[in-house]
Amino acid sequence: MTENDLISLVARLTSRPASDVLLGIGDDAAVVKMPAGKSLVTCTDTLVSGVHFPAGTPARCVGFKSLAVNLSDMAAMAAQPRWIQLSLTLPAADAVWVREFISGFMALADRFQLILIGGDTCSGPLSITVQLMGFAGKDRWLTRGSANPGDLLVVSGELGGAAFALQQLERGQRPHPDLLQRLHEPQPRLHLGQALAAIASSCIDISDGLLLDLERLLQGSGYGASVQLEKLPSSALLAELPDTERWRLQLSGGDDYELCFSVPPSQRRSLQELAGSSDVAVNIIGEVTASAGICCYDVNGAVIQLQRAGFQHFEHSDES
Ligand code: ADP
Ligand code: MG
Repeated sequence: MTENDLISLVARLTSRPASDVLLGIGDDAAVVKMPAGKSLVTCTDTLVSGVHFPAGTPARCVGFKSLAVNLSDMAAMAAQPRWIQLSLTLPAADAVWVREFISGFMALADRFQLILIGGDTCSGPLSITVQLMGFAGKDRWLTRGSANPGDLLVVSGELGGAAFALQQLERGQRPHPDLLQRLHEPQPRLHLGQALAAIASSCIDISDGLLLDLERLLQGSGYGASVQLEKLPSSALLAELPDTERWRLQLSGGDDYELCFSVPPSQRRSLQELAGSSDVAVNIIGEVTASAGICCYDVNGAVIQLQRAGFQHFEHSDES
């Protein structure tokens, strides 16, 4: 297979009718029609084999996840995604792998009516870059850094399951299928994110561990947070772990792709209504504090110090 054959295969497998795509795959660039009165929202994320997923991860899972992590960013902005660009760097022109990859990728794309409009195809170590484009209503998107002291801190879904699965894989153990699914097929919280536009003061998606992403959520605001450890939502499959081990996975494990957001106390009722109608659980885990820094408390109110913050690229590289 040549590069052109691969592109034709991708184009064939992903072709869908779309009246807002004026020019799709096949030219030097794509042209789309923006809905009137909307603002363009765009994001991109790369998955590198051996860094973001274990080498040998099934191609279908890589396809699903490469789109899911980008959709999670769109969810955190309260945006509605619509168009995708897909840049594939592949060690070999393997049609079987590409078909599997695209089946996972399109399962999610079709669920949210997304259209692939272009991309790039290269040879090299396995790496996938997805760019999403979508829209938000005028002034109706969520950001980091705009929480206020007294705001409730809330997270969606459960934390720590994906990190537990990854840890088990790395130790040669076989994770429970539900945990493996958390790792390979994170569920982007798009509906929740869009609903939050009306009530949240700030929002981020948790990709590198709650503590690190909470720090990012508060960065620039000068404020901090208190977190009640017993309120951290966890799968029953993590319940038998010792507290400190479970907290470590929930606070710094990464790969959760849940939303972490702040809600002014005046919106508490709207939050409860949202929790009642949402397709995913939302749990209050603490609140924003006027003093900087994140403090974690156990059920007795004792401060718990945790060692590792979360995953950061280049963490151990030289400053110079
Ligand atoms: P150019 O050399 O002008 O960049 P390419 O050969 O890279 O053109 O791409 C040709 C067309 O195929 C473009 O429309 C591009 O967007 C599309 N394309 C290439 N690779 C992919 C891919 N992996 N997924 C979707 N579209 C792709
Ligand atoms: Mg190109």
